[in-house]
Amino acid sequence: MAATEYTRKIIHIDMDAFYASVEQRDNPEYAGKAIVVGGSPEGRGGVVATASYEARKFGIRSAMSSKIALQLCPHIIFIRPRFAVYKEVSNKIREIFSRYTDLIEPLSLDEAYLDVTHDKQGIGSALEIAKRIRQAISGELQLTASAGVSVNKFVAKIASDMNKPNGLTFIGPSAIEKFMEELPVEKFFGVGKVRAEKMKAKGLHKGADLKKLSLDEMLSHFGKPGQFYYHIVRGIDDRQVQPHRETKSVGAEDTFLYDLVHIEEMNAELDKIAKLVHDRLQRHDLKGRTLTLKIKYSDFRVITRNRSFANPINDLETIETSAMQLLLSTDPEGKPTRLLGISLSNFGEPMPKKAKKQDDQLSLF
Ligand SMILES: [Mg+2]
Repeated sequence: MAATEYTRKIIHIDMDAFYASVEQRDNPEYAGKAIVVGGSPEGRGGVVATASYEARKFGIRSAMSSKIALQLCPHIIFIRPRFAVYKEVSNKIREIFSRYTDLIEPLSLDEAYLDVTHDKQGIGSALEIAKRIRQAISGELQLTASAGVSVNKFVAKIASDMNKPNGLTFIGPSAIEKFMEELPVEKFFGVGKVRAEKMKAKGLHKGADLKKLSLDEMLSHFGKPGQFYYHIVRGIDDRQVQPHRETKSVGAEDTFLYDLVHIEEMNAELDKIAKLVHDRLQRHDLKGRTLTLKIKYSDFRVITRNRSFANPINDLETIETSAMQLLLSTDPEGKPTRLLGISLSNFGEPMPKKAKKQDDQLSLF
């Protein structure tokens, strides 16, 4: 195969422990301390949105319950999130990006792709632009960001995570091939824990192993995503940086290693998934009007159930309760269940009137 010709320059920028860093910046008494934003010491269903790097040393992570965070670090400080402030800082960060390009695709308040193939200032070097952006964020906002610079979105995003926090990683055209061959399968887009285990069971541990498979073999092993893996392992990712991409839905799902048959275990899993969805909604600064529950049974049959709300929601309790109500409406006890998922959608215009009626009906449940 002829060497791939790379024509684009992509930067992925990711703020370091964003919410926690803003709190440490604005409240000097928290600087250098183990803090978490979100959750509470005795809070019911409280979940960590972001942990400071000092807290991460204790093993505390996003989406972890407050209870576990407290067990890992008894002196942890819980801070109530100030989303309006994070949003404002996020806007300032985007203003810095816009000095170099208008092709900005935000993924959340603290993360974005930039296409700087043709930058506004004619600098010509993506690495240099990434350096200047990091300097501006640090000088003007007293915050740190990590950046990945490469020829496509996939590699840029992995690169930004490689030297976190406050890191800058460049994977240029001549380094891509080796980089992809060395990449562990877990790092490939959409490969969760379960699929990674399946891949390893087939002797596929890293990019080089995947590269040995033909496109047909990829498709028969992995279904439709096989096509993406086939190309990406060869450094080909043509996904464009989309400045106005709308988020259509935010969700999370989990495939279980064993089928669940009892309501109690399904409920416990659903609570975990709800916490992930809640965290993602906050990161994207979104509220949705429609909640969808997805269930896959052991015979691979998939059903979905949804309910709509008159007013958009994103609070954990409503997500948990509604998902559980939808699950109960399927009479789940004793039905071997392989996967559960929750998503929120319908972020756009206010709901038409008739939807409210539906909401009232459902709340009679
Ligand atoms: Mg981040």
